[in-house]
Amino acid sequence: MDLVRRTIELALENVENGGRPFACVISRGGKVVAESPNLVAQTHDPTAHAEIVAIRQACQRFGTENFEGHDIYVLAHPCPMCLGALYYCSPDRVVFVTTRDEYSRYYKDDRKYFELENFYDEFSKPWQERRLPMEHRPEEDRRRSLLALARVELVIRGEEAVPNRPGASLRGRPTISLPRLRWT
Ligand SMILES: [Zn+2]
Repeated sequence: MDLVRRTIELALENVENGGRPFACVISRGGKVVAESPNLVAQTHDPTAHAEIVAIRQACQRFGTENFEGHDIYVLAHPCPMCLGALYYCSPDRVVFVTTRDEYSRYYKDDRKYFELENFYDEFSKPWQERRLPMEHRPEEDRRRSLLALARVELVIRGEEAVPNRPGASLRGRPTISLPRLRWT
């Protein structure tokens, strides 16, 4: 099966059904294992992009979040949300049919913060400069988050776990390495 053609077909069918012109096909060894069009218009779920829906289908079907050995076909170059999801599931390859510039004139969105022009620029700004208002509130929640992350790191390294109680101190535990964590 020509998977690029299948992706285009899915997108066109979706438009016929009142949906948006995007689609995603996930394949292994040339066979389709999951596929979806964009379902935002049908579901009113802003995260129902074709990539996200197809990735969820495949994860549930195969019980894994690791897509090594898979290729993912998308109609248009992925948006930042989908690009993030693609990095998380780590397929061997992502094939896209149209570039961002090619579909920009068809891209319509009435959302307050998200415009095609700022797709990627916005995300790379320091959080204080983004259009989406964000606040950093460190205090107690930060301490608990650090503790949870430190426990995960110890489990990964097979070392002794930090006691599972709120407020447990990280001090005096030289086996925990936190320099990779950034909180700014
Ligand atoms: Zn997307």
